[in-house]
Amino acid sequence: MAGTGVFAEIIDGEVYKYYADGEWKKSASGKSVSIINPTTRTPQYKVQACTQEEVNKVMDAAKAAQKLWARTPLWKRAEFLHKAAAILKEHKNPIAECLVKEIAKPAKDAVTEVVRSGDLVSYTAEDGVRILGEGKLLVSDSFPGNERSKYCLSSKIPLGVVLAIPPFNYPVNLAVSKIAPALIAGNALVLKPPTQGAVAALHMIHCFHLAGFPKGLIGCVTGKGSEIGDFLTMHPGVNCISFTGGDTGIAISKKAGMIPLQMELGGKDACIVLEDADLDLVTANIVKGGYSYSGQRCTAVKVVLIMESVADAVVEKVKAKMAKLTIGPPEENCDITPVVSESSANFIEGLVMDAKQKGATFCQEYRREGNLIWPLLLDHVRPDMRIAWEEPFGPVLPVIRISSVEEGIHHCNASNFGLQGCVFTRDINKAIMISDAMETGTVQINSAPARGPDHFPFQGLKESGIGSQGITNSINMMTKIKSTICSKRLSVCQALKD
Ligand code: NAP
Repeated sequence: MAGTGVFAEIIDGEVYKYYADGEWKKSASGKSVSIINPTTRTPQYKVQACTQEEVNKVMDAAKAAQKLWARTPLWKRAEFLHKAAAILKEHKNPIAECLVKEIAKPAKDAVTEVVRSGDLVSYTAEDGVRILGEGKLLVSDSFPGNERSKYCLSSKIPLGVVLAIPPFNYPVNLAVSKIAPALIAGNALVLKPPTQGAVAALHMIHCFHLAGFPKGLIGCVTGKGSEIGDFLTMHPGVNCISFTGGDTGIAISKKAGMIPLQMELGGKDACIVLEDADLDLVTANIVKGGYSYSGQRCTAVKVVLIMESVADAVVEKVKAKMAKLTIGPPEENCDITPVVSESSANFIEGLVMDAKQKGATFCQEYRREGNLIWPLLLDHVRPDMRIAWEEPFGPVLPVIRISSVEEGIHHCNASNFGLQGCVFTRDINKAIMISDAMETGTVQINSAPARGPDHFPFQGLKESGIGSQGITNSINMMTKIKSTICSKRLSVCQALKD
């Protein structure tokens, strides 16, 4: 059970502690932040509201610990990570329990998130020892006008302190996807978990604590992003920010200093369906891609752009499959569970009502109870409706009928977002041409958008992000190239030459 057994030390009374200098602590603020259970809409947990002074101390400790950690042998760093991964998997159930209560993730998916996170940490450790174990030797005479008089030894060095800020929908997986590459590369790590999902993240951090990482190397400060976010992201002790979330990331990129940024932001992933597509495959992917975890996935299908000639058939098939979705509490493993907050539900409802007023066809009756929104397919959506462009992050999916592939590509590329997209056709040549034309970080052919497997490159164009994730890319992003250049005079070069 959460907060008991090995996790008993991370809670004090009813408030979870924050993690600093290798210890679990109460904030001097005396204040806490409530986490509302999206299903019951009552307070479930409380976390510390950390102060700026506490953030300063966490940053100082991280900076000091990082110096030694960077000199810790790579194989040893990997060993710590493998240990943390094993502990994380061993304690998957209490962590999954938090995900169910904080973010209404269906129970089975919550366990999957924790196991996948353990696998991600292990894979990162393995990948790290390979790619960080390699350097380069360059010789000067490959550039015109030079003799072989200089040798350049280049290797990858850590950046310093990495600040990790994940979103609510994968508070464990999207935290470890930042923590593991940062640590294997020799950086220190400060985590600011999302408020909804903070308690799952604190349990996850405790698994790293139990793995025995050096004191101060990992810190975790809690509090509302709107209150401590700016202080963290503009902190002079931060050498890199890895952020996943919504528009907040755009604001952070404008405020952050001259440091590397990894930003994975929102999306409006289009699903383009051509006339020759396998309609059953399309149907299965629209339902899974659009409605899994109630549409609260960055890579959910967020707009269907379908050729008019097959639209009626697909809409009917999707409606029939949607009728089988189960709707209710996450504890019962329902397909559709309450969305994360009342404000999120209100936002989704606003998009739905705008579309209704402008004449969209509702394939089901719109229904909402508290934060629970019944899955809805909106047909005959037009570009003047907000839902054609905005990201609902809920179980409502617009269908836009198109009369040419070009029209579909045009709609996709007119979006401010450019995360992923997908195209359904039996013609691989057409699929590749469409993929080339779509301005998105990834295009999936005959399958719905998805973030995994976690070692694939993952990136958004335009307002969907900066940089690229995926295990190898994240490790590289959290390092810098260091060169040592020696000229012939030096004995080491003489030795290399000989
Ligand atoms: P969000 O509101 O942007 O919050 C993300 C994180 O930022 C949370 O930890 C939040 O903390 C923190 N935060 C808030 N204000 C801040 C500030 N001023 N400075 C620093 N941090 C601040 O996003 P969300 O609602 O959690 O997640 C949904 C969004 O994430 C969607 O747009 C979705 O598409 C996107 N997403 C993208 C990807 C991807 O890889 N591209 C993956 C998953 C989700 P608090 O919770 O305390 O406010």
